[in-house]
Amino acid sequence: MRTQMATEAGRTTAPSEDRALVGPNLLAVLDGVTAQPETGCEHGVGWFADQLSGEILRFAHLEPGVALAKAVEQAAELHSGTCDLDHPHSPSVAIAMVQTKDDVLRYLVLGDATVVVDTKDELLVVSDTETKRTAGAKVADVAHALTGEVPLQDVRRVAILSDGAARAVDLFNLFDWRQALELMAANGPDDLIRKMRAVEKEDVKAVDWPRTKISDDATVVYFDR
Ligand SMILES: [Zn+2]
Repeated sequence: MRTQMATEAGRTTAPSEDRALVGPNLLAVLDGVTAQPETGCEHGVGWFADQLSGEILRFAHLEPGVALAKAVEQAAELHSGTCDLDHPHSPSVAIAMVQTKDDVLRYLVLGDATVVVDTKDELLVVSDTETKRTAGAKVADVAHALTGEVPLQDVRRVAILSDGAARAVDLFNLFDWRQALELMAANGPDDLIRKMRAVEKEDVKAVDWPRTKISDDATVVYFDR
């Protein structure tokens, strides 16, 4: 199994709030939700994404939904004493994760991150761009994640992307998902981000492709077998 990762901040003036995890049996992309002026949290989205990332890796031996629920619970504990976790804009992340265990690949998506699984028979593209659900301070939110599993022997390759990277396909239509996987297999996931940034630079006023962020934090974890 070969795993490659690429990430690039959307702006040069602010740190990326995406995080990529490459654990022994778990891959994930977290995308911090852009903070509102008031969040009730003195730490910030980047801090929260870091804490949640660490906790997810600690629980990576559990099934993705259980691991994420425990990670959310633990991350909340880290700032429940100082911050208002009932605030509607408490820090949160969109997350997509994939776990390989016991001859099965399990995936979980909460929010507008994307998992693409290329199997012998089909191309699964999993994302939730409709509900605006995310992983924040509430364990109950994890129950709304999209989950599923595929026999590992059927899996050819997998890509996990933040929405800032998935827009190469679902906004700019630079290629379809199968072509995107071919590109990453040949040139690595950084080439997908490079090609997308070139298009974004050609449309800095967001005229041809209307979008609120000219460039967004973009992260891809790709693996093939
Ligand atoms: Zn906090």
